[in-house]
Amino acid sequence: MKYYTFGNNFPNGGGGDRWSGVRFWLTTMLVFWAFSAIGLGWLVNSFFILIGLVTVVPVVAFFGLQWWIKRSIVTADCPMCDTTFNASRSSQFQCPNCGEPLQEQQNKFVRLTPPGTIDVDVQVVE
Ligand SMILES: [Zn+2]
Repeated sequence: MKYYTFGNNFPNGGGGDRWSGVRFWLTTMLVFWAFSAIGLGWLVNSFFILIGLVTVVPVVAFFGLQWWIKRSIVTADCPMCDTTFNASRSSQFQCPNCGEPLQEQQNKFVRLTPPGTIDVDVQVVE
């Protein structure tokens, strides 16, 4: 014989886990509401701001770093041996293949040694 008692008509057996999630959010909302009610809304806000910062900052840093690397690294061909490689924009560097000192100029690699320096005419003064 089955009977139900009024006042305790919330089914206890089975499906108890289904309600624990709802109860958690209800409790959370109630806590936040209570905080706002007693004038601690700023605490709730700063909590959310903190969570937002913790979530957003690494993402922004990641994309910022990628953008910075893309900006500071240039890929081009060596003017001497046509080897394609990456190099930093700001500094002077050497071709990994032929060892020619190079620098970046308008997204291209140019020889550090100005042309003509090597072919200096040596004049012997008598
Ligand atoms: Zn080279």
